[in-house]
Amino acid sequence: MSDGDGELEARLVEQEEFEPSDEFVEQANVSDPDIYEEFEENWPDCWERAADLLDWDEEYETVLDDSNEPFYEWFSDGTLNASYNCVDRHVENGDKNRVAIKWEGEYGETRTYTYQDLYREVNEFAAALRDMGVEEDEVVTLYMPMVPELPIAMLACARIGAPHSVVFAGFSADALATRMNSANSDYLVTCDGYYRRGDALDHLEKANEGLEGVDHDVEATVVVNRLGDDGFGHELAENQHDWDDLMDEQRGERVDPVERDAEDMLFLMYTSGTTGEPKGVKHTTGGYLAYTAWTSHAVLDLKPEDTYWCSADIGWITGHSYIVYGPLALGTTTVMYEGTPDFPERDRLWDIVEKYAVDVFYTAPTAIRAFMKWGSKFPERRDLSSLRLLGTVGEPINPRAWKWYYKHIGSEECPVVDTWWQTETGGMMITTLPGVKNMKPGSAGPPLPGIDARIVDTEGEQIEPGRAGYLTVNKPWPGMLRTLYKNDERFINEYWAEYSDEDADEWVYFPEDGAKIDEDGYMTILGRVDDVINVSGHRLGTMEIESAIVGVEGVAEAAVVGGNHEVKGEAVYAYVITEDGYEGDDEMRGRIVEGVEDAIGPIARPEQVVFTPELPKTRSGKIMRRLLEEIANEEEIGDTTTLRNPEIVTDIQTKVQGD
Ligand code: ATP
Ligand code: MG
Repeated sequence: MSDGDGELEARLVEQEEFEPSDEFVEQANVSDPDIYEEFEENWPDCWERAADLLDWDEEYETVLDDSNEPFYEWFSDGTLNASYNCVDRHVENGDKNRVAIKWEGEYGETRTYTYQDLYREVNEFAAALRDMGVEEDEVVTLYMPMVPELPIAMLACARIGAPHSVVFAGFSADALATRMNSANSDYLVTCDGYYRRGDALDHLEKANEGLEGVDHDVEATVVVNRLGDDGFGHELAENQHDWDDLMDEQRGERVDPVERDAEDMLFLMYTSGTTGEPKGVKHTTGGYLAYTAWTSHAVLDLKPEDTYWCSADIGWITGHSYIVYGPLALGTTTVMYEGTPDFPERDRLWDIVEKYAVDVFYTAPTAIRAFMKWGSKFPERRDLSSLRLLGTVGEPINPRAWKWYYKHIGSEECPVVDTWWQTETGGMMITTLPGVKNMKPGSAGPPLPGIDARIVDTEGEQIEPGRAGYLTVNKPWPGMLRTLYKNDERFINEYWAEYSDEDADEWVYFPEDGAKIDEDGYMTILGRVDDVINVSGHRLGTMEIESAIVGVEGVAEAAVVGGNHEVKGEAVYAYVITEDGYEGDDEMRGRIVEGVEDAIGPIARPEQVVFTPELPKTRSGKIMRRLLEEIANEEEIGDTTTLRNPEIVTDIQTKVQGD
């Protein structure tokens, strides 16, 4: 039985603003409120502060080169190596015995890599890549689950100047082939398998199937042996090498980090593809690394002595920036976990926080809503007192989930940073600096210092507080994508065409998200601009309606889409998951309708409320609204292969349309 809303007493439900504690502020990396003004006045030189967190081989002279907009260049006459910055320099600075990576397998086995261990393995794998023929600027594809060999391979690539392209392990064989083809990648590092909820999964079979779809010759594949005796007994082909054999051959080898131009590509990352074709986002060495190190320092407040855990998968940008590059550049201990939050039990994450005494924890709203649904008894079993700061990313977080996280995970002592950013932005853009700003649940916060984000109307004019509009970024920043891989034209069309005035040479980045701003400059992200429902001529953001529904007692999660309606044009369809212990009945349906009417108005009243045990989600935890829309409109259901739970689609379909 869940204790439901009793978990949030009235005091918390009503509180709209939260102050960081003095204790937090006193120790924060950034606590001077003047930083906003300072960055604005000194822009773009303010970004030296980020670049100064790195060791440069050749110091840069130019901070920003904007001679060819929107192809901005940052620190472009400087040179550096990302692997040197994330590994070697900590070893050289006397921290060789500090833990770099704490890895936990699903069965609870642990592997610990000190910075010296990481240094050794990164060098040896870099030597192996070179011996296989990988040259500077050749893209190496990494199709790997959450094993320590993944960050090792990333850093080995960075060491020899070979950009990596990580393909999330949960993606299909097809997705692998498409990405290898797009990047023209001749090398693959993969894994025999991994564990999910107690089962060994055959990953190599999928990788091999993907290789068959590659349209060019693949030079070599490396296979990590994760499963040992649980493996599936695949024979390795002639050009496939066992990771351990390769490493044995390279024992003791050292590879000098290649001096890379700041603007040389560090990696390629395809976006999750929730809207159309995946985009090959190109990130570079200097600007990206400076930006992730800076935001890890200023927002995540990471210190070298911290144990920090981001529960994302490295297959997403969040894992690249905030499991690997940012934390390791700062010399922090970063935790990696192989499995799921509910295996063997629903307290697994809190078990890990307790076990490693995690200081800073970063996760996604979809996870927080699952924890809420399961109830507070799971975190209550564990000692979470080591935590100092909490973060979320990936989707808007509704105030109730924020407050639950704040209370039950952070015991009302840890600030919560709600960080808005994208694959394309490289790092966090809109969020509170936890040592400076108050938090407002439901709002990500003001743009970070040096970030010129605005909310505008369709003409690009800034709009007044309270009204919904479009988010734009009106100045470049070091972590930004440089282009879409080998597709400059799409890069411009996708992100710059909407709001830029080319004749006036004014370039404005459009992230394709809707948002609103309040009197204090805090921004609430309303979701993608295409997630808008038009009811009788009124444009309603799905996010606002969802937020209202999730505010109703007993609701764990909700997704809202527009379905065709003869009179209104579109009508609101709400798909709702109840918290454990609540029944999806007429009484609850009534409270949901009332909740929406109270929060937004009768215009937003849901036409249908459909209770479902799950929502169709992508592997990164994002709701696939497109499918729910197709169901509401009784259209043919499109591609479901990128879903984590495709089986739920027919289930929901039956509920809405009948058998
Ligand atoms: P694709 O662009 O291929 O459709 P995607 O946008 O889901 O995929 P990501 O780059 O991983 O891929 O996600 C970025 C998006 O996630 C943002 O544009 C925004 O819509 C949403 N988002 C991320 N963080 C937040 C946040 N804190 N609050 C609200 N929305 C967020
Ligand atoms: Mg996107």
